[in-house]
Amino acid sequence: MSAPDTRKYRPETRLVQSGVLRSQFGETSEALFLTQGYVYDSSAQAEARFKGEDPGYQYSRFANPTVHMFERRMAEFEGAEAARATATGMAAVTLALMGQVRAGDHVVASKALFGSCLYVVEDYLPRYGVTSTIVDGNDLDQWRAAMRPNTKTVFMETPTNPTLEVIDIAEVSKIAHAAGATVVVDNVFSTPLWQSPLALGADCVVYSTTKHIDGQGRCLGGVILGSEKFINDNIHTFIRQTGPSMSPFNAWVMLKGLETLAVRVRQQTDTAAAVAAALAEQPKISRLMYPGRPDHPQAAIVAKQMRGGSTLVGFEVVGGKQGAFRFQDALKLVRISNNLGDAKSLITHPATTTHQRITQKQRDELGISDGFVRLSCGLEHPDDLIEDVLIALKAV
Ligand SMILES: *Cc1c(COP(=O)(O)O)cnc(C)c1O
Repeated sequence: MSAPDTRKYRPETRLVQSGVLRSQFGETSEALFLTQGYVYDSSAQAEARFKGEDPGYQYSRFANPTVHMFERRMAEFEGAEAARATATGMAAVTLALMGQVRAGDHVVASKALFGSCLYVVEDYLPRYGVTSTIVDGNDLDQWRAAMRPNTKTVFMETPTNPTLEVIDIAEVSKIAHAAGATVVVDNVFSTPLWQSPLALGADCVVYSTTKHIDGQGRCLGGVILGSEKFINDNIHTFIRQTGPSMSPFNAWVMLKGLETLAVRVRQQTDTAAAVAAALAEQPKISRLMYPGRPDHPQAAIVAKQMRGGSTLVGFEVVGGKQGAFRFQDALKLVRISNNLGDAKSLITHPATTTHQRITQKQRDELGISDGFVRLSCGLEHPDDLIEDVLIALKAV
């Protein structure tokens, strides 16, 4: 069974139509193949299947039709040759890095990373003899200086969590490739709608599909995308033999999530831009970060590499931790959570939650001040959100 190639269509069309594998029943909506394994017509077919001479499925740790549909839809939307789904976003990040390296290799990563990604680079890789250098993602000289003959891969997240700084993917890719290293980009914060790292020079893109791809706060998931060669050389066997596979149920939820991704993310981005515009005029906001505004510190890079802004707004409330807590606690509609990309608007105080474990010095370097909050805009009416935020600011 193979799905028709839909790459000739525009992105929105691909999100709905790509990767569909219809069963003999001709169902309209993608079927949920909740099965662990597959049966064979004969011993000879089983033998041929295991030899790779008969196309078809063997076991859902290796491949499953629903998971396959999700992978094809993601690959065609991203413009990647191949994709592999994983149980969580962290499984995707860990595999994308671990799948490439051997003892003695070196990894360079930007310092503004999702907390668990930093753990993988700084604590986990060194256990297996893989060293790492952490750089300021916006300082190209630091990237250049960090490259070594044994640098295998570089890893970055842009826009960064939680401060929404933007790194120049094309320039870092040039530096990495000149040193013989590959480039892995965690593209969660921009979503595949607004940024295509592969087209900018990256070799691999990873997502936590837990965020905008599910988009409604239900299932965890991840996906790794790249060329057929990158996936075959680094990822395919690793997933097959070690088992961080995505469940068919979660793949089905993600597949249906993709159908509405463009409408949701577009709406949430417009809302976030409107919230940012309202916040920009408020005296109790001492710093505002929104990719897409002319006052963003890397506005020129945003214009060059992103097709849209962000569904997130980062800002510093006056009065430090107390100011931020008073503000968050006064919100009625926006709920306090560490998640993002949901249909429901969520706010996070990174200094005391997601980034609590790192040192004060590290937080200072990352711009995570005690008054800084990260707002993930949902699908509520923008005016309701703006009202909620402006009323809550009065409590500061
Ligand atoms: C959430 C997130 C992850 C981890 O994804 P999980 O699905 O929670 O494992 C990795 N990177 C970024 C940027 C994220 O936002």
